[in-house]
Amino acid sequence: MLDWSKIDTVLLDMDGTLLDLHYDNHFWLEYLPECYAKHHAVSAEEAAQRLQTEFARVAGTLNWYCLDYWQTTLALPIRELKEHTIERIRYRPDAPKFLDDLRAAGKQVALITNAHPDALALKNRFTDLAERCALQFSTHEFGYCKEFQELWQGLQATYHFDPARTLFVDDGEHILDSARDFGIAHTLGIRRPDSQQPDKTFSRHLSVTRFDELPPLS
Ligand SMILES: [Mg+2]
Repeated sequence: MLDWSKIDTVLLDMDGTLLDLHYDNHFWLEYLPECYAKHHAVSAEEAAQRLQTEFARVAGTLNWYCLDYWQTTLALPIRELKEHTIERIRYRPDAPKFLDDLRAAGKQVALITNAHPDALALKNRFTDLAERCALQFSTHEFGYCKEFQELWQGLQATYHFDPARTLFVDDGEHILDSARDFGIAHTLGIRRPDSQQPDKTFSRHLSVTRFDELPPLS
C-alpha cells in the first residue's frame, strides 16, 4: 500500500480519476455518433463505424484529445455539442474529499490532463475543480500527451517535482506505465473511472475503486 510519508507531490489525472468518465464516454460514444448521423445523413451504424475508424487512427496521440482536430475531421461543432450534455459532468464520489485531504496534509497537488484546454475549461465551469486543485496543466501546452516521455520531461522543466517522491494517479494503465518509465516512483490506477461501467483491472500498478481505500492522510 501507499506510504504517504514517502510522497510530497501528487499528480492527478482529471477524467476518470477526479471526474466521472461517464460524461466523456457518453459524449463520444453515444451523443456524438447521433449528431454525426444526423449531420451527415447516415445511419446510426454507419456513423458509429466511421467514428470508430477515425478514433483508432489517432488513439494514443495528442490529436485524440484535440477538439480542433475533431471539429475539422468530423465537420461538427464539437465545443458547442459538448455543452449539450453538461448535466453529466460530475466528480467521482470521493474525489472532492480526497483533494481536500491532500491539501490539508500539505501535499503539493497538480492536475495533469490530456484534455484540450477548452475541455478543461468546460469542466472547471461546471465543477469547483479549479478551487479544489488550483494548479492545472493540459498536456496540449507541452505538445505531447502523457503517453510520451517528452511530456514528463516538459512538465518537470515547468513544475519542479521529485519523481522519487511523487504519486501519479490515472485511470489508464498505459499512461501509468509511461509515468513509471519516466521515474515516477508511486503510481495508482482507478478501477471505476466511469460510474456506469463495470470495474476495470490493473495488472502492473496498485489500484483502488475509491480513494478511501487508501491509508488515511493524517
Ligand atoms: Mg483519465
